Amino acid sequence: MTIQTWINHAEERLQKAGCPDAGLDARYIAAGVLKKSPGEIRFLGDTEIEKDALEIMNVRLDRREKGEPLQYIENTAYFMDFEFYVDENVLIPRQDTETLVELALKKIGGIQKPDVLDMCTGSGAIAVSLSLYRKDACVTASDISFGAIEVAKKNAGRLNANVGFVLSDLFESIPEKRYDLITINPPYLTKEDMLTLQREVQAEPSIALFGGDDGLEVYRRIARDVYRYLKPGGYVLLEVGLGQEKDVLTLFTNECTWESGVQKDLCGVDRVVWIRSKE
Ligand code: GLN
Repeated sequence: MTIQTWINHAEERLQKAGCPDAGLDARYIAAGVLKKSPGEIRFLGDTEIEKDALEIMNVRLDRREKGEPLQYIENTAYFMDFEFYVDENVLIPRQDTETLVELALKKIGGIQKPDVLDMCTGSGAIAVSLSLYRKDACVTASDISFGAIEVAKKNAGRLNANVGFVLSDLFESIPEKRYDLITINPPYLTKEDMLTLQREVQAEPSIALFGGDDGLEVYRRIARDVYRYLKPGGYVLLEVGLGQEKDVLTLFTNECTWESGVQKDLCGVDRVVWIRSKE
């Protein structure tokens, strides 16, 4: 079978299965297995596919047809300038979250050797990126999930990022220490959101998505303890879901708050709430 014939057949199957980007996914699967870029594949349509490669392509097509995200099938996701390993243990890093990393880099821009804590780290996308952009930073990353910590460690190793890891339910096992910056992309979807998840998102770990009935449960728990872990003038940056920014700001604002604000993502959605502790 030629590459173009396989792509046509795969696109048709994915379309029938309701995949939103059937053509693109078909080409990506072929490119991934044949170790070509999706652009190169366009010019190789007449090339015959070898038996072994064809088998792998068909297995991947079956998985994608059943609704598994391409990133899990290929064990790859792109975030900031880096390629991350991902699997079913972790949320697939979203482009929205790059807004948080960019803001974090600005906030610690003037601090030498900043102490940084990234909680609910998942794949480690935030922690590893911060560590790679700020080689002088001392970055610790934590997660409640052992599987996630394993994935994050793998990413730090592969990308040569100097990150320390702690298995911890929020602050429970975090050593008593004060940080210049704490970043968190917690689970924040509501009970209602969880009932209407896209097929691909259903494949992701619900522990990384579900934030209790109103989506704010994890923010409440973090707000209770976070100021004890901040240096004077230290920052907390939190990713928030659609329309949660006011509630989250309220939860984190108290007598310890110096200043706070909200940052929009590239789509214009209020995406990151930031809070600064008093000097
Ligand atoms: N942004 C994710 C989504 O829309 C949710 C991630 C999270 O809960 N932190 O599916």
